[in-house]
Amino acid sequence: MFAAQKIAQGGHQVIILNRDIKPGGLAEYGIYPTKDKMKIGLRKQFAKVLSLPNVHYFGHVPVSTQAAVSIADLQQFGPSAIVFAIGAQGTKKLGLPGEEVTGVYAAKDFVYSYNLLPPFTSRDFSTGKRVAIVGMGNVMVDIARWLLIDAPVKTAEEVVVVARRGPFEAKFDKKEFDYIEEFLDRRAFDEELRRIQPQLSAIGQDISKLAEETFPVLATPATEHPEGKARLRFRFLCSPQAIHADSEGRIDQLTVAENVLLERDGSIACKATDKFAALDVDTMIFAIGDVADPAVGLPYSRDSYVINPDQTDPKRAAYELFDPQSCKVLDGMYAVGWARKASDGLVGIARHDAEVGAVHVLKYMETAPESNFGAAEVQKFLERKGLQVVTKPDLESLARAEEKQAQKLGALWFKFAEDNAMLAAIESEKANAVSV
Ligand SMILES: Cc1cc2nc3c(=O)[nH]c(=O)nc-3n(C[C@H](O)[C@H](O)[C@H](O)COP(=O)(O)OP(=O)(O)OC[C@H]3O[C@@H](n4cnc5c(N)ncnc54)[C@H](O)[C@@H]3O)c2cc1C
Repeated sequence: MFAAQKIAQGGHQVIILNRDIKPGGLAEYGIYPTKDKMKIGLRKQFAKVLSLPNVHYFGHVPVSTQAAVSIADLQQFGPSAIVFAIGAQGTKKLGLPGEEVTGVYAAKDFVYSYNLLPPFTSRDFSTGKRVAIVGMGNVMVDIARWLLIDAPVKTAEEVVVVARRGPFEAKFDKKEFDYIEEFLDRRAFDEELRRIQPQLSAIGQDISKLAEETFPVLATPATEHPEGKARLRFRFLCSPQAIHADSEGRIDQLTVAENVLLERDGSIACKATDKFAALDVDTMIFAIGDVADPAVGLPYSRDSYVINPDQTDPKRAAYELFDPQSCKVLDGMYAVGWARKASDGLVGIARHDAEVGAVHVLKYMETAPESNFGAAEVQKFLERKGLQVVTKPDLESLARAEEKQAQKLGALWFKFAEDNAMLAAIESEKANAVSV
């Protein structure tokens, strides 16, 4: 949206093709559901972008080798440039035995489901009593917060954070961790710190500094964990190795390898040992970052789209897509945001990246061949492909329909959780408008 805005402000026609019906990506479907102020603010900014007359929007249109519309289809129109701002929709797999069993989820999919993004809303994301979350960043905190506080049906009695490295390498923000701090089982945490203390000391980490660095909660005296309250625990210095399932095919145990910490070039790395441990869990969520989606059809290497390796102007090159086979830049094709660097920071960072990328696109367009097709032509093409395209006026109809539902339910907001329900609401709003 921010790349579109910048390019449109440069005087060009911009056509947005979006997989989802609604704009916003993770800003709409990733950011924690109760962060209303932030979400409403972003929605207003997106509405402002869409209000530009030279920005056209076609939602419900995935572009992929596995979808009705491919990159080659877009190229046939001869656009001056194509910008891929498609985020990181691939799933990072560790390739563990048992990764496919029931109850094992990727964080992105789980987050999409509780943020009501179809089709994730109609898939099984059932959780049990003992949930392992792998990873120690803000996404882990969001998921733990959902499980411990906001899930409509709270199943988790224990959430265990499985971390490769130690407590000094925690990547979450303190203000995010504040939400779930009260669930931390202090006695279990102290015990875990005692267990790993020799490891930390061996690389010069001083546990007494933990309160001022990553776990301020340690500055307050430990108390007994309240009876019956769900517990948050940490299992440091271990890497998942294998997932085991019960007779019904649901995860019931996770084998982890014990790690040792090493200091390498000023940063802390870990190395698996040949010692193993078993964690009894019935749900496991990988919150270890995402990767670019290989199915889109862009040159792909090591979990990312390939960008121009040219070092003569690395800033510009970093946004240009590159074909490693022909060793040529894909002329006029750019990547921005999480599509360029998967899981790289907050919305502000993605916005900045998109705007910097858009400046390079604008520069390129100064000498790029003119294109001579209109948005109406693209819409006709998409409809001929059998797609139910969602346009800017449709988004307004959908917003009205959701607003009415929210009012009816006396809720702050309402979201349709299925594509069909959204499409039907759009049609019914349009029919209402005609009859009025
Ligand atoms: C769980 C979670 C919580 C977060 N919480 C916060 C927070 O509280 N505050 C904050 O500032 N940041 C937060 N972030 C980070 C923020 O969401 C990202 O920085 C930002 O959304 C990245 O923007 P993007 O446009 O690059 O990608 P995305 O937001 O992923 O957007 C990608 C867009 O591309 C579309 N798309 C994908 N594939 C295709 C395709 N094949 N064809 C057509 N369209 C496609 C999608 O529909 C989507 O509209 C969070 C991220 C996650 C994962």
